[in-house]
Amino acid sequence: MLEHKVAIITGGTRGIGLETVRVFKEHKAEVILFGSKKETVEGAIAKLKQEGLEVEGYYPNLNDFDEIQQVLKEIDHKYGHIDILVNNAGISANKKIEDTSSQEFEHIIDINVNAMFRMTKAVIPYMKKHHGGVILNTSSMVSIYGQPSGVGYPTSKFAVNGLTKSLARELASIPIRVNAVAPGIINTDMVASLPKEIIDPLIETIPLGRIGEARDVANAFLFLASDMASYITGAILSVDGAARS
Ligand code: NAD
Repeated sequence: MLEHKVAIITGGTRGIGLETVRVFKEHKAEVILFGSKKETVEGAIAKLKQEGLEVEGYYPNLNDFDEIQQVLKEIDHKYGHIDILVNNAGISANKKIEDTSSQEFEHIIDINVNAMFRMTKAVIPYMKKHHGGVILNTSSMVSIYGQPSGVGYPTSKFAVNGLTKSLARELASIPIRVNAVAPGIINTDMVASLPKEIIDPLIETIPLGRIGEARDVANAFLFLASDMASYITGAILSVDGAARS
């Protein structure tokens, strides 16, 4: 489904991002994964190699626009084009507002929203040069319902939806399609780090009776990245087993 496409996936070293790397590779894309650290990027590349999947990786500081531009320039030079960007890197929060400092709040917005803006802005010239592309963002179920603590996280994901829907309209004429996937509770490290008191009541609300797997989300990214979704832009696709928090 992605033959001859070059895809960059941020937060590609584990969880949803790593599984998306696998699925995109299975569908013949050239994949470049981004992570936050040299060690985790090298670790993910080595793990994929053992599975027979060859990918490259980078670890630009997503808070540094110049560094992102430099890395994208290098990738475009090497591969000749950049067709798909999956803005997946993200961090979560679960503290009550009384215990959250403004720096902690700003940090979440910086990674989950500002870095997404920087990556998106930096990739547009390359997609434009090649007459189009696809930008996919990882939102969350909490972008629709909010959550009872960790206000920075749902706030950031509401912003992801705003960025997705607005840029879908702004970039449609290029054409660059911009969509988001809003996962429910997915079986990754991010969820493993949340307290049982938060997770258990959430699972009870899932009509499909289970938490999601990273592959459930990766498959949604595959569909939206592919030409099968050529008339879909500005969508926030829920992948949550119909969960309502
Ligand atoms: P994870 O913690 O397993 O992976 C997060 C990824 O983001 C890692 O690859 C990490 O390197 C990267 N990252 C974190 N901080 C970074 C930074 N400062 N710079 C660069 N990269 C950074 O989590 P996951 O569950 O796979 O989450 C991936 C995305 O899915 C996130 O955007 C998250 O908000 C979203 N999401 C997850 C769930 C879930 O239940 N797991 C639900 C809804 C949305």
